[in-house]
Amino acid sequence: MSEAVIESFSPLAERLANALGTRAVITEADAREKYLVEERGLFRGEAAIVIVPETAADLAKAVAICAEEGVGMVPQGGNTGLVGGSVTSGREVLVSFEKMNRIREVDATNFTITVEAGAILADVQAAAAAQDCFFPLSLGAEGSCTIGGNIASNAGGISVLKYGNARDLTLGLEVVLPDGQIWDGMRPLYKDNSGYSLKNLFIGSEGSLGFVTAAVLKLYPRRRQIQTAYCALATVESALELLALARRRSGDQVTAFELMSEFSLSIVCAHADGQRPSAEVHPWYALIELSTSRDGDDLRATFEALLEEAFESGLISDAVVAETIDQAQRLWRLREGIPEAQKRAGGSIKHDISVPVSAIPRFIAEASQAVEAYMPGIHVCAFGHVGDGNVHYNLTQPDGMAKEAFLEHWEAVNDIVHPIAMAMNGSISAEHGIGLLKAQEIDRYRSKSEQALMRTIKRALDPRSIMNPGKTVAIEGKAAG
Ligand SMILES: Cc1cc2nc3c(=O)[nH]c(=O)nc-3n(C[C@H](O)[C@H](O)[C@H](O)COP(=O)(O)OP(=O)(O)OC[C@H]3O[C@@H](n4cnc5c(N)ncnc54)[C@H](O)[C@@H]3O)c2cc1C
Repeated sequence: MSEAVIESFSPLAERLANALGTRAVITEADAREKYLVEERGLFRGEAAIVIVPETAADLAKAVAICAEEGVGMVPQGGNTGLVGGSVTSGREVLVSFEKMNRIREVDATNFTITVEAGAILADVQAAAAAQDCFFPLSLGAEGSCTIGGNIASNAGGISVLKYGNARDLTLGLEVVLPDGQIWDGMRPLYKDNSGYSLKNLFIGSEGSLGFVTAAVLKLYPRRRQIQTAYCALATVESALELLALARRRSGDQVTAFELMSEFSLSIVCAHADGQRPSAEVHPWYALIELSTSRDGDDLRATFEALLEEAFESGLISDAVVAETIDQAQRLWRLREGIPEAQKRAGGSIKHDISVPVSAIPRFIAEASQAVEAYMPGIHVCAFGHVGDGNVHYNLTQPDGMAKEAFLEHWEAVNDIVHPIAMAMNGSISAEHGIGLLKAQEIDRYRSKSEQALMRTIKRALDPRSIMNPGKTVAIEGKAAG
């Protein structure tokens, strides 16, 4: 950013500092830096002002000032979203929620937890566990992502199969609206049919309609038994049959069912300290977790019986059931290490698609045939939450190809893969949102009437496009981004 542009933000910085206090307004280049870089290095943000409010009231004051000045604002939680949703263009004020991270209350009778938007997901899980409860949202970035970011992106993760995504786990919300008012919807209610479900407007809206400042979330009884197994499979079809068998035989106690291709496992072993649970190499693997909050069930016996049935019917060719917590964690590291291993294995082009669960084998077969025809030698690194129809259909560069040359094919490869998912009634963004990465593409894949409806909602709530301008749905506004 040029000095002249930074200088032009000085009067706004002064107004914000007068309203929020100087400690809440960051303008020094060194101190701003950490908010401007993101996980994958795909985007680089620019912002002359970062604010770190401590309360919803302070944030509301800042929003009112920015609305008056016609300056956009970009909310940022843990900045782990991977699609550039919390990246600033240089024209907006960046809002960090790092100081709004309190856990206000755990109600073990109502099975709810009340938290501020900047609370780290792992801290929320721990606070629930301390009261003999369980907060089921769980994903690879849980040590740094925030509840506000989880809600704004309607995060999924490994337990959607059993407990649903962030939308299903959110009962109440507090939101700072584009005109600087605070909407208090912090009702810890499991039932509330008193008009439109306003919270659902904000969940999954990537901060484009309002900024979440606090939430009431659902809890469950703490899990007493957790069993984890790794299974080897010949085909993706067998994985789906195994999933159905596991759900039936366990009385629907499957809490996670993750698919990994041999290529994805091989790179975790080569680049991310993964160790194969068994020496045999197979085309596909499933990581399965069964869990229950009952003490009396013998979950391990249930698991072993169903795996034996799967083995005898030829669905699986090998299986390892973890004997200890440590062994279960090592199995999970194989799955969680894939994104890191991909980074070390060279360039990767990623897709976060979903299709109906039953269409997954067809999607993987058709997409793989098409990308291999486009670029011989490309490595398909497919893995993900197949229990919810969500495949991270990632592609790693052919051996010997330069990373930059490979990444130049990003859009062309998206243009091959995304239409295949859409033709199966799928989505091009199953859990990471739209952000900047898919801002152009979304116009092609949502119908004209859906786009018009989204713009109508955006215009009604945020006519000047102050809130995360240019993300999710773009409208013309003074701060259009
Ligand atoms: C290793 C790894 C694994 C992941 N696994 C999963 C997974 O399994 N499932 C999944 O769904 N995602 C996954 N993600 C993506 C990411 O962790 C989630 O999307 C997470 O919910 C983002 O939270 P955050 O606090 O980092 O939000 P950010 O990245 O900071 O922001 C995400 C979006 O929300 C907006 N936002 C942030 N805070 C607020 C707020 N308080 N109010 C309004 N808008 C706000 C931002 O502007 C942005 O548009 C993964 C990411 C990584 C790096």
